[in-house]
Amino acid sequence: MNEFNTYDAIVVGSGITGGWAAKELTEKGLQTLVLEAGRPIVPEEDYVEHVPVWEMKFRGMGDRRKLLADQPIQSTNYACDEWSSKFFVSDKENPYTTEPDKPYRWIRGRQEGGRSITWGRQSYRWSDLDFEANLRDGIAIDWPIRYAEIAPWYDYVEEFAGISGEALGLPQLPDSKFLPPMALNCAEQHVRERLTKHFGGERVLTIGRAAILTKDHLGRAACHYCGPCERGCITRSYFSSLNSTLPAAQKTGRMTLRPYSVVHSVIFDAKTRKAAGVRVIDRRTREHVEFRARVLFLCASTLESTRILLNSSTPEFPAGLANSSGELGRNLMDHVKAGGADATIPGFEVRSEIGRRPNGIYIPRFRNVKRKDPGFLRGYGFQGGGEREGWERGIRQTGFGPEFKKAMRRPGPWQFSFYGFGE
Ligand SMILES: Cc1cc2nc3c(=O)[nH]c(=O)nc-3n(C[C@H](O)[C@H](O)[C@H](O)COP(=O)(O)OP(=O)(O)OC[C@H]3O[C@@H](n4cnc5c(N)ncnc54)[C@H](O)[C@@H]3O)c2cc1C
Ligand code: SF4
Repeated sequence: MNEFNTYDAIVVGSGITGGWAAKELTEKGLQTLVLEAGRPIVPEEDYVEHVPVWEMKFRGMGDRRKLLADQPIQSTNYACDEWSSKFFVSDKENPYTTEPDKPYRWIRGRQEGGRSITWGRQSYRWSDLDFEANLRDGIAIDWPIRYAEIAPWYDYVEEFAGISGEALGLPQLPDSKFLPPMALNCAEQHVRERLTKHFGGERVLTIGRAAILTKDHLGRAACHYCGPCERGCITRSYFSSLNSTLPAAQKTGRMTLRPYSVVHSVIFDAKTRKAAGVRVIDRRTREHVEFRARVLFLCASTLESTRILLNSSTPEFPAGLANSSGELGRNLMDHVKAGGADATIPGFEVRSEIGRRPNGIYIPRFRNVKRKDPGFLRGYGFQGGGEREGWERGIRQTGFGPEFKKAMRRPGPWQFSFYGFGE
């Protein structure tokens, strides 16, 4: 090892959290090494949001045989399609096992930018209803912070990222530092009015709060509603580490981004009692390399960062680093996305959608907010939206010949969907 392997700070992973760590550390003056297990991404070559369906070999349906063989888990995710499957891992190359009765779909991005390329960009604040929930319910461990402490940091992040949305003044969903909201379409406006009337204002429908620019912001262009954000965004209109934080870190001249660098474990210095660096395996050469720094951020995603700590065992810490409680790698909690409804909304046939708004609606939590629900604890929100059906309905609808073709040229009815998101 030589002095070239020593930095002020090391960040492992270049996804959403790694991008932020890189930006903040470099802007504060630290020479920072970002170690990324995946390949480099060049937006001008890799982003494919404007590639039309007729240029795709399988016309957007994907090579189903290949997807089933290489990405049987990743391809269950709505965002992993013929265009964007390259931003998801190969399940064949990254196998894992689970208990037979505890299946888990581990959706991963292993390239510069991580999952910040494919994420859904929905951005909501927690309130004290969330921070105080464990205490109130008398279970698990009380959060050590409250909303007032984190609110300035939400401001800080949102002012840089750019969050569009509508301020509602709800206690259960604090407002962000908003850019102008995207517009609701006529079906959504209709449902909003009916909902407000029916539930006396207890349930509210609003446009999704999204990390997508509705006006030019800090050198990035406003969204032009092309639609499929999970394929990249050449105008950098949505927040991703590739579009926002990594370029900011690059601009300081203090970031070194090293792709193909799989961090294996953390080096623990028994003399100083501190983490002193990381061990890396170069994905292309299989060479083992070590890097040292005084500051170390593990931003390799929840599960991969945990794996690195478990890998970092020493004779003194046989169960891995930072695991004196024995809880490392246990108690994983994901959010649930299930349940909901679809409906056809009659009317509004003279109206249609303009552009492909990359956002839907949101109904903030309404259970256990004003009054206690006897059936269960806590609550859930709804995402969804209204849209006018197009020719794609021909996949579901049967028919052939001139009549069928003629019918498919006309837009279908307005559809509406809700799906729940819970803890
Ligand atoms: C389809 C989809 C939609 C989503 N929608 C939303 C949403 O609407 N709102 C929301 O808040 N969240 C959403 N999420 C979740 C969000 O994307 C993640 O919470 C977020 O990306 C986590 O950031 P991260 O930095 O921890 O991990 P990631 O963004 O996954 O980045 C981890 C990085 O670490 C690298 N890495 C992993 N292991 C190593 C190693 N050993 N050595 C070096 N590098 C390594 C990876 O290659 C990757 O680049 C969505 C996720 C998906 C997949
Ligand atoms: S819809 Fe907007 S944010 Fe999404 S890729 Fe297109 S321009 Fe970018």
